[in-house]
Amino acid sequence: MQLRYNLRGAVWILVYLLFILAPLFALLAGSHPPTRDFWTELSAALGYTGLAMMGLQFGLTARFRYVTEPWGEDVIYHFHRQISLIAVALVMTHPVILVAVKPELLAPSNMLDAPLSAYFAFLSIFSVIALVVTALWRAALRIKYEAWHLTHIMLAVVAVTAGIVHMVGSSFYLVDPWKRTLWIGLTIFWIGLLLYVRIAKPLFMLRRPYRVTEVRRERGDTSTLVMQPDGHPGFRFSPGQFGWLTLWGSPFKITAHPFSFSSSAAAADGRVEMTIRGLGDFTNEIHKVPVGQRVYLDGPYGAFTIGNPADMHVLIAGGIGVTPMMSMIRTLADQGDKRPVVLYYGVQDWDSITFREELEALKARLNLTIVYVLAKPPAGWTGEQGFINAEMFKRHLLPPYADHEYFICGPNVMMDAIEKSLGEMNVPISKYHSERYSFA
Ligand SMILES: Cc1cc2nc3c(=O)[nH]c(=O)nc-3n(C[C@H](O)[C@H](O)[C@H](O)COP(=O)(O)OP(=O)(O)OC[C@H]3O[C@@H](n4cnc5c(N)ncnc54)[C@H](O)[C@@H]3O)c2cc1C
Repeated sequence: MQLRYNLRGAVWILVYLLFILAPLFALLAGSHPPTRDFWTELSAALGYTGLAMMGLQFGLTARFRYVTEPWGEDVIYHFHRQISLIAVALVMTHPVILVAVKPELLAPSNMLDAPLSAYFAFLSIFSVIALVVTALWRAALRIKYEAWHLTHIMLAVVAVTAGIVHMVGSSFYLVDPWKRTLWIGLTIFWIGLLLYVRIAKPLFMLRRPYRVTEVRRERGDTSTLVMQPDGHPGFRFSPGQFGWLTLWGSPFKITAHPFSFSSSAAAADGRVEMTIRGLGDFTNEIHKVPVGQRVYLDGPYGAFTIGNPADMHVLIAGGIGVTPMMSMIRTLADQGDKRPVVLYYGVQDWDSITFREELEALKARLNLTIVYVLAKPPAGWTGEQGFINAEMFKRHLLPPYADHEYFICGPNVMMDAIEKSLGEMNVPISKYHSERYSFA
């Protein structure tokens, strides 16, 4: 299974490189314009490459399950952010070099007489700057996620389209009609990816709605939505995976919210549950969802799943990061799995332990040990307290530690600290799996 994922991952990396580099090499084929100085040629090459990389971002965020499976969605979004910054740096270097080589380009008379394609270059550059500023400093600028998401898509479309119009309009390397066709074809492909996500996929989801059959209040300002497929069999998921939930509207809504499935993956009737903590404007309204409400689910996604042969599963959860663990535990119990499972569960206090009663009851159905780690323990508490750390692992796990399979989900600072601790305990990276609840 892992080997198949690795192979598939390698193939997709090759396809990615092909999409970025092939259009550049195609420019070198056929007839060439007269050679210009080195810096001008370099600047053009950087512009072409940056643009090809930017266009392919539509593919990275298109949620193609088959493509993202080998890495997991959080890794893909992280890559999207990092590679976008490189693409933007390349695109921005293009005009910087040109102006450095020919400062007269900035002279007012030249600016006024500039061809139309130059104005598209300005439009593209301004959109790119706005894209970066709003993506990096969204929280500091206090932009609501939904408003940012819509703006982000619009700016990306404008940046890429204006860049292509500038390129085709400047036409220096695109004298051959087939080269022009190739780049216009690429643009249509990139925009097609966006149309697939925004129109084709929602149309598919529209025919496969879900109904809320129960809304359960849980400990810790949290609610569970129980959802049943309405008129279709639903999908199967692996414990630990997540889906995108669209509530209060049609699947054409720009922003869906990602939540792990918290129910057992062994449910035969397609029922799925998501357990959601009130942390913002969307999640704070979950407890008000009426039974019978129609919702849409896009999934399953993610590579954070049990399935590798392991003698012992060590689940490490911080706060609401317990939801994928709950799905794993419920599924193992339903499957009658007798292998030991240890859950490290970091929470604020005893009263806000989501699923506390059910977890205790599940101990009777599987070989489950729970180590609660309380940030604010009650008087007389003799269990673990503070932050989950390497000492706590050593107190409750049997060596060799590298033999167990670890799953970590919680706030970023907690995950960073735990990954570091596991590294210090010589647990190889292939033995631990992380799910980050922030794509930022
Ligand atoms: C893979 C994954 C699984 C998750 N599973 C759970 C879960 O099981 N239970 C749970 O309570 N929470 C889960 N979350 C977190 C949850 O998605 C956010 O808390 C929620 O979307 C916040 O929405 P809001 O409007 O209430 O809060 P806001 O205050 O608007 O947002 C808080 C932060 O959440 C992020 N966020 C907001 N909206 C989105 C969105 N549409 N897409 C991506 N990120 C967004 C942004 O970084 C934002 O700054 C998960 C997140 C991810 C990425």
